[in-house]
Amino acid sequence: MPKYYVDETTNNDELHIVHHGECENLEKTESAISLSYHNNISSAVDKAKKLYDNVAGCPECSDSSYE
Ligand SMILES: [Zn+2]
Repeated sequence: MPKYYVDETTNNDELHIVHHGECENLEKTESAISLSYHNNISSAVDKAKKLYDNVAGCPECSDSSYE
């Protein structure tokens, strides 16, 4: 099961982006909070929504290219 992270900083759309642990974009974020392990990104996004109201999955890693 992959590990997911949520960016502590909002993007230009004021969204906190959820990333797969191996996403290239995650390496560019200054600080990210671990969401622990999830079967899929929608489960990780649900957990991130307990931290933030404005959450979205990263378009780069929310497809099935990461397992
Ligand atoms: Zn990502």
